[in-house]
Amino acid sequence: MNRPDTAASSPIEVLNEVFGYTAFRGMQGDIVEHVTAGGDALVLMPTGGGKSLCYQVPAIVRHRGGRGVAVVVSPLIALMHDQVGALEEAGVHAAFLNSTLSSEEAQNVERELRSGRLVMLYAAPERLLTPRFLAMLDSLNERGLLSLFAIDEAHCVSQWGHDFRAEYLGLSQLHERFPQVPRVALTATADDITRADIVQRLALDEARIFVASFDRPNIRYTIVEKDNPRAQLMRFVRDEHEGESGIVYCGTRKKVEETAVWLADEGITALPYHAGLDASVRQKHQDRFLREDAIVMVATIAFGMGIDKPDVRFVAHLDLPKNIESYYQETGRAGRDGEPAEAWMTYGLADVVNQRRMIDESPAGEEFKQVQRGKLEALLALAESHDCRRVRLLSYFGELSSPCGNCDNCLNPPDTWDATEAARKALSCIYRFSQHGGGFGPTRFGAGQLIDVLRGKRTDKVVQYGHDQLSTFGIGADLSDAQWRGVLRQLVALGHVATEGEYNTLGLMPSSRAVLKGEVPIVLRMPREATRGVRKRAVR
Ligand code: ADP
Ligand code: ZN
Repeated sequence: MNRPDTAASSPIEVLNEVFGYTAFRGMQGDIVEHVTAGGDALVLMPTGGGKSLCYQVPAIVRHRGGRGVAVVVSPLIALMHDQVGALEEAGVHAAFLNSTLSSEEAQNVERELRSGRLVMLYAAPERLLTPRFLAMLDSLNERGLLSLFAIDEAHCVSQWGHDFRAEYLGLSQLHERFPQVPRVALTATADDITRADIVQRLALDEARIFVASFDRPNIRYTIVEKDNPRAQLMRFVRDEHEGESGIVYCGTRKKVEETAVWLADEGITALPYHAGLDASVRQKHQDRFLREDAIVMVATIAFGMGIDKPDVRFVAHLDLPKNIESYYQETGRAGRDGEPAEAWMTYGLADVVNQRRMIDESPAGEEFKQVQRGKLEALLALAESHDCRRVRLLSYFGELSSPCGNCDNCLNPPDTWDATEAARKALSCIYRFSQHGGGFGPTRFGAGQLIDVLRGKRTDKVVQYGHDQLSTFGIGADLSDAQWRGVLRQLVALGHVATEGEYNTLGLMPSSRAVLKGEVPIVLRMPREATRGVRKRAVR
């Protein structure tokens, strides 16, 4: 297995001998061939698709051909550790340079690097771009011993991606300084705008772009309306995933803590993980999650990047992710072993409101906010959709597909209803509210009051403000609370209704006019709860 470094081998030989695999998967073969031959490449491949081999095999083949070391840029220290460990185990001389090394260890690595014996060197971008390190690369390059650059997690270079890292911007230097050295950039998530940004910022104009299918057929997607989320989560975890490993994502650290405690009280082995915990606690929880079976990790998005646990059976979202890339990336941590896995999310009006507010209140510029709003809208459209979730998800990444038969909407097609008229009623009621407050614009009332008035409930607050005297009082008695929440959620999602301030008071937007006029058809999913009620009644 450990052949002399000078003996040339083919990619497939390396795949067999070093990694013990019989064949390349999907696009791997083409990518490996292209990169081994010295071409630049941008590789878009989903998590679990097998990106690592796309640079590891070329690195080994090129090293055996006498071309020296491949430098792998990665922001993830844990991943460097794992990969270097696995490579050394397979008899491939690899090392990493990052902040965890003592200066003595770092010197050892540098000596191996200079000797030309090293096949692969993993380095964090900030380390790579130090003058000292660049000088070392210069000297290797002069001796023809710099074989290739692999830039992992390449979306980190783009501010449109979900994990922008300023250190990545400096990587454009690689091309300027070492124009002859081939580069391969890899990422698991990049929509069109991020992709174009990666190409531009890393000067990959000449690179061949490989886009693998983003489909993860073994993952079943389910999105449910929020209605007592804890009970919904419990049903999901206990009834469908008892004794299995999973991740529950929450939007805030506080919610992570509370949810973990609550799950543990319910007898489920749950551990919290977020950036506010001590590094030692985080490490301990992560280790347990990786080693033991049946641990539920309750986490913020701080958890997951570079975690390679093949048998995560479910990923649950209690709060809405930022956009489709984040959703895809986070749910993609389920089922890396190819066995059936589930991505489950519960979301509601408050999620829509919160995410919109986070964008509005962020210190970013208006152009950036506009892009983020567009991305949020695409995610909301996915959540509200009544057709195949996978078709929508994949089409977001530019991939055409047909209904999958393995998502909630395919398996159990939701009933829909025409909410155009209901939307008009809701908007005219908000309009009446604002007349009291003073015209088209913000009101002093939130969703609860709106729904009570539409449904004709004479609550104290309704009477207090004279809302039982409005012409819109009771005009929506035929619809359920859940249906009204759905209407409102859709209106907020589409930007036809604004929510403001601490109490999320409602207000009309310029675009409300077209909806008020009935020019915007709105078709909604029938809330599952309501559907179930109807069916039950029908049976009786
Ligand atoms: P990514 O980095 O794209 O998320 P990895 O490179 O970690 O994916 O690969 C995911 C898993 O698939 C790993 O366990 C890897 O060993 C396995 N794998 C990759 N390519 C092949 C192949 N050609 N044959 C068999 N297993 C493979
Ligand atoms: Zn489907």
